[in-house]
Amino acid sequence: MLINLIGKNLSDFAPIMDKYNLQKDIVIDYDNENYKQKMANTSVDNDALVIAHGGDGTLLGAAHLFNNNKILPIRDSRTAPVCAEHTYEKIIENYFKNRLICNEYTKLVGTAFINNEEKKLHGINDIFIHNVNRVAAVRYRVFIDNELYADEIVGDGAGVATILGSTAYYRSITHSTFRVGIGLAFSNSTEITNHLVLNENSVIKLQITRGPAVMVADNISEQVMLKEGDTVEIKKSNNTAKIIGMDAFMCPKCRVLRHPNQYRFLNKSLNKISKKI
Ligand SMILES: [Zn+2]
Repeated sequence: MLINLIGKNLSDFAPIMDKYNLQKDIVIDYDNENYKQKMANTSVDNDALVIAHGGDGTLLGAAHLFNNNKILPIRDSRTAPVCAEHTYEKIIENYFKNRLICNEYTKLVGTAFINNEEKKLHGINDIFIHNVNRVAAVRYRVFIDNELYADEIVGDGAGVATILGSTAYYRSITHSTFRVGIGLAFSNSTEITNHLVLNENSVIKLQITRGPAVMVADNISEQVMLKEGDTVEIKKSNNTAKIIGMDAFMCPKCRVLRHPNQYRFLNKSLNKISKKI
């Protein structure tokens, strides 16, 4: 079977490739290559499976570079120990036995209107505007579905997160997560501004009233600079991210092994459960 492979420590995955006769089409080796240049000169077969070998960041990167392909994320075992159920072997075996579910996840599109030009970024976790100057706040106006929500908010920035992103940067700002819709969060605003969970089809507009600011999406390096008067519109994209086996990738047992101190209470209870079984 022909696959695309993306990530780091790819040599660790080579024995499994051989065992299951996986042939490499496009290889994006984070340890060695200028992958942006490579992707610009490569045509992608949208039907080929993409294996993303690494952590959450690699999965996001894979979804950006291969935005129409199904992606199978596998934790890089050198930096993230995994439980017995989620070794390379088990995941690939489960994939071929059709035991892994493919889910479609909402993507966001952020469109910046700068003079008469549009610049777009796509995010699977979130799209944010941030202040550029660390010592100066950004000021912005907020519209939700064309209705003015806040005339001027002063702070580090604001943005919109998907359900997937609600456990990432959104959570670190709001100390909350959500399971439906999209979330609008305000970072370090001087006013008491409530974070909002909105209908998934809501359109959020942020107008910069004092910049400079920058629009970013997920962990991608591409950024869009914004100045006073520029507007950013953030809404659900028509495209989705198709990710296979997210349950296995987000397994609580694997997480305890990765962060033994952070989850030490959960660790104890999981041990008790496994002893009972
Ligand atoms: Zn696991």
